[in-house]
Amino acid sequence: MTALFARRALLAGGWDRNTRVEMQAGSISLIETKTVAKPGDTLVDTVLPALANLHSHSFQRAMAGMTEYRMAGRDSFWTWRDLMYRFTAHLTPEQIEAIAALVFLEMQEAGYASVGEFHYLHHQKNGTPYDNLSEHSDRIMAAASQTGIGLTHLPVLYSYAGVGKRPLEQGQMRFGNDVDRFCRLVEQARGAASALPDDCRVGIAPHSLRATAPDDLAQVLLAQATQSPVHIHIAEQPKEVQEVQAGLGARPVEWLLDNAPVGRDWCLIHATHMTKAETRAMAATGAVAGLCPVTEANLGDGPFNGATYLEEGGAFGVGSDSNVLISLTEELRTLEYSQRLRDLSRNVLVHGEGSVGHALYTAAAQGGAQALGRQAGEIATGRLADLVAIDSTHPTLCALTDAQLLDGLVFAAKDQVVTDLWSAGRHCVQAGRHRARDAILTRYRTAITSLLEEIG
Ligand code: ZN
Repeated sequence: MTALFARRALLAGGWDRNTRVEMQAGSISLIETKTVAKPGDTLVDTVLPALANLHSHSFQRAMAGMTEYRMAGRDSFWTWRDLMYRFTAHLTPEQIEAIAALVFLEMQEAGYASVGEFHYLHHQKNGTPYDNLSEHSDRIMAAASQTGIGLTHLPVLYSYAGVGKRPLEQGQMRFGNDVDRFCRLVEQARGAASALPDDCRVGIAPHSLRATAPDDLAQVLLAQATQSPVHIHIAEQPKEVQEVQAGLGARPVEWLLDNAPVGRDWCLIHATHMTKAETRAMAATGAVAGLCPVTEANLGDGPFNGATYLEEGGAFGVGSDSNVLISLTEELRTLEYSQRLRDLSRNVLVHGEGSVGHALYTAAAQGGAQALGRQAGEIATGRLADLVAIDSTHPTLCALTDAQLLDGLVFAAKDQVVTDLWSAGRHCVQAGRHRARDAILTRYRTAITSLLEEIG
């Protein structure tokens, strides 16, 4: 058993003072309120439920800053994707592991306890599978082990270049599987995950309605979806909406809700381009909207229909997706600011009256945990000990009341206010630093040097 003592804690029922939280086998075993510290307790200022980062492609972190140069007349999401494909052509298993470890470390130092790794780079450079079919999944799990982050691994089914079963293009050969081989890969990854802590999950991720087909999707859901998270990219770009509409006869979200058993164990990534009717229908399913505001801004995707979705009680969480920037506070404030800029309005993403920061943070904590299949998202007995401590004596926060604190965190602070982080009870960040920081950074630098030499 380990324990923390916090001067202030955001419990499931609200704010508390002088709180002890005991942790056992990864979960919260006891909460004592208005009490005193015991010998051996880790002392922190303010403890909050830590968020899940529900959508990541870790290797893309290594491209951050390489795609912001304007080329006359040709920059778009699709030219960004071309560079991403050049990158994926060269990555080795060692590099994938080293990059993922750095990314997971950065997430934990930013206050995320867990990650949904949406993993589509499966095969050797020439597109043939490794002798070990789940080689790259194993590398992601190794990175999770080194960092201690809570992993929900999401192997991706990627079979086609576009709607209508268009064959994969050259840059996509490392991603490709048919349903049979994909199911074998998932089984193998589930076997490998049994060596990780109990909170590790393996779900599935049909990549998008572009990269899978209706019959394949039905088959894979039947074979693999039982009680594990299902994530899918959807309606990120107008061109994708047009392609799906032309090929399948309905808009992407509309088609998915009509043709798949979308419910609480589903996470729809982006869902940017929805009509009001789609927005309402999606909220009613109980699925989580996987919003990635920083990446969506970076790629020029567009803003989410936040106000309509919240009116209908829709669940959401946040993800760092391309990992161009890993910052929990930045994701939440970009989400709210995207709505303000579009609507010429303020304080949009709160239903009724109340603190926007509090509403955003607590909803993302619960939605993120739901999307990753983690019993987390609030501080309560029996929940996973996914906890983050922040320093509310920091100059950006010290003037604020309990009711204002999460507004300060979301709109005024940087992630440096994070002092400690527990992923399912694993105390990975202490005094603002990840416990394996030096070794992980050294390996990352070596991996990047070799990768850049190869790309040339
Ligand atoms: Zn993505």
